[in-house]
Amino acid sequence: MLPGSLRIGKVLGIDIAVHVSWLIIFVLLSWSLEVGLFAARYPGWSIAAYWALSILATLLLFISVLLHEMAHAVVARARGLHVKSITLFIFGGVSNIEKEPGAPDIEFQMAIVGPLTSLALAGLFGLLFLALGNNQSPLSAMLGYLALANGLLGVFNLIPGFPLDGGRVLHAIIWKLRGNVRVATRAASHIGQFIAYCFIFFGIWLFFHNYWLNGLWIGFIGWFLLNGAIASNTQGTLEAMFKGVHVGDVMDRSPATVPANISLRKLVDDFLLPHGWRSAFVVQVDQLAGLITLNEVRHVAREQWTQTPVGLAMVPLDRLHTVTTEQNLNEVLPLMIGQDVNQLPVVQDGHLIGSISRENIMRFVEIKRSLALDQGSEVTPAHL
Ligand SMILES: [Zn+2]
Repeated sequence: MLPGSLRIGKVLGIDIAVHVSWLIIFVLLSWSLEVGLFAARYPGWSIAAYWALSILATLLLFISVLLHEMAHAVVARARGLHVKSITLFIFGGVSNIEKEPGAPDIEFQMAIVGPLTSLALAGLFGLLFLALGNNQSPLSAMLGYLALANGLLGVFNLIPGFPLDGGRVLHAIIWKLRGNVRVATRAASHIGQFIAYCFIFFGIWLFFHNYWLNGLWIGFIGWFLLNGAIASNTQGTLEAMFKGVHVGDVMDRSPATVPANISLRKLVDDFLLPHGWRSAFVVQVDQLAGLITLNEVRHVAREQWTQTPVGLAMVPLDRLHTVTTEQNLNEVLPLMIGQDVNQLPVVQDGHLIGSISRENIMRFVEIKRSLALDQGSEVTPAHL
């Protein structure tokens, strides 16, 4: 789940959460509907009616967005991908799906079903609106609004730029046509960046032609798309580069270790200073016991260094993340970034057999790059 999101329930075994941005949008949207749409367009109702209608309309829109996301999740699950949670945020939602789709057809179906759901909902609300004969009643006003909002949601999400659904649809199509997932990622990212710049320039143009609010919005969407397009390319490149590379291939096989029973003074004088180490793994009777870094040493007053054993000051094993040699770099790197740690111990049956650091990974990337091993390799999609 994204940081800053609240879990609100479970539907079909999938955790549903709302990002704080949605709560802000909820209030703003209800308010803008109240003053901007219903009160302005349909005068003569009571204040309570405007508010009740605005809140109901916002709630129904919220459910519409949820249905859009559920559609992605249901298709993903039918294709054997595990969906952990759905978080609704400012532009819709994100489904937390454990793996990337393994084939273009799956990615295409998973992506397209969201906008299709929104467009179907737009059609449904539109039909109900027409059935009422646009009679200026509160109900008809709300149905008209929901038809329009779902229609916009469907169309907006079809814009071919990451992280919107349209970006994934485009990616799947190129992947299918070219048979290479990396070529597809690169091409989709370039197209996404081009579209993002179009939005940004159009936004700037509007801004200076008396439509400053619309200009700001469109510029903001462009900026959002640009970030998504750039991030997807970087991520795609890294993922492809790390595919099939395991911790055991890049780890440092002789990491810095110290015994648990020595004092902090001995640690500093005999290990950290002479070797220039900033951290060391702590070992007790052949087993990994923890990690000690300059940070833990700094937390102990210097007068107590002689009496304090390393084992007492270290970060104990149960607070460390450990990895095994068989783990893929694609799993380990997000773990490092998520936990904000520089290195992880590689453990087998409780024994420390190595360590993997961001530097190890960087060096691997550098070597691969300078030998041009990362160029033009065909990546066959794994079948699920
Ligand atoms: Zn979607």
